[in-house]
Amino acid sequence: MSPLASFSALFAEPAGSAIRELFPYLSRPGMISLAGGYPSPSLFDAEGLAQAASQTMLQGAAALQYGATEGQPALREALAQQARDRGMQAQAADVVVTTGSQQAFDLVVRVLIEPGDTVLVEVPAYPATLQALCLAQANIVAVPMDADGLQTEALAQLLAALPAAQRPKLLYTVPNFSNPRGSLLTAERRQQLAQLALQYGFWVVEDDPYGELRFDGEDGQPLPLPPTVRAIAEQLAPAGRNPVIYLSSLSKTVAPALRVGWMLADAPMLRRCTVAKQTSDLCTSPLAQGVAACYLQSGRYAPTVERARAQYQARMQALVQGLSALPGAPIRCTAPAGGMFVWAQIDRQMDPQKLFDAAVANSVIYVPGKAFYPAQADVHTLRMSFASADVSQIAQAVQRLASAMAQI
Ligand code: PMP
Repeated sequence: MSPLASFSALFAEPAGSAIRELFPYLSRPGMISLAGGYPSPSLFDAEGLAQAASQTMLQGAAALQYGATEGQPALREALAQQARDRGMQAQAADVVVTTGSQQAFDLVVRVLIEPGDTVLVEVPAYPATLQALCLAQANIVAVPMDADGLQTEALAQLLAALPAAQRPKLLYTVPNFSNPRGSLLTAERRQQLAQLALQYGFWVVEDDPYGELRFDGEDGQPLPLPPTVRAIAEQLAPAGRNPVIYLSSLSKTVAPALRVGWMLADAPMLRRCTVAKQTSDLCTSPLAQGVAACYLQSGRYAPTVERARAQYQARMQALVQGLSALPGAPIRCTAPAGGMFVWAQIDRQMDPQKLFDAAVANSVIYVPGKAFYPAQADVHTLRMSFASADVSQIAQAVQRLASAMAQI
């Protein structure tokens, strides 16, 4: 018998997702998880989704048949409406439905990136983005962030200094409540980013799964969001030449299990991503699309998002206030204005691996910061999600972290 043919070089010894590798710990009895970016199970509107599902099934064959690769017309229209509500120009034909927004990014990488191409990524970055770019053999160049998001001044300097052979093709950013930094990109920086993209001719992926989850300001009103980078670029770019590909998702606001994400981009990009999607999954599950469309039309989406915003704000406050009340403030963080994540720095004297091991031994888990860096990680960082644990569990988690720190 001959030995089996080998895996491709890229998959010979692939590194898996650092976050998914934490899964075995999560099932330990009594573990409080601040690790995954999982929405709160108490927010799932099972009743509304059940109605949407039965309505979808009763519509007949369409929900059970293959569908158009671009997505179902009713859902594309509902998502185009969401895009218009966020200040962008959009018709149904400008939207492609994807199997999670994760797939949308993968498609963009497939249609744009060849081995060695330079891609700019805000760092600390969403790990699956780094993973997709590594598999595409991209030359990943980090752009630093601060509490106001991607530092566009640093980006401008970097672009001016990059040799012509390394001109970037693409930049990836999460302007609203980034994963993991929790930061909100300022309006001025959005403007500068759109201008730089046009000046240097690179594409921008504006990944926005968290924008709806903004907290209330001091006046009790939802914080207004700055315009999207895509909306700004609409004003600056000639028609049909907008370099910004806007991605969003129903995972964080409705349910990740739907696997419904979407992209809004100009026709040449959409056309190529549609062809790439044809070999990926033919189409996003028409059943899931039907449920999503009926749900969005049912009027239950806005109150569901409203509940999520209030619940996450309370949980975020419990986490941030709990951490800052610990004697000596050994874990420092700033309160995000929305989303699901708190990014924190630990004391430089502390050994990050020892802290992680002690935390797990005390039945609390978070994601160590090194997962969010393509190279040269700041290992004295960590990401905590406040979305899944309730306020009392979060208070307990903070006490367990304090015990873990006392033990190392
Ligand atoms: N982008 C970011 C920044 C995310 O945090 C996530 C989910 N953790 C995704 C994309 C993927 O979401 P989806 O479920 O839509 O694939």
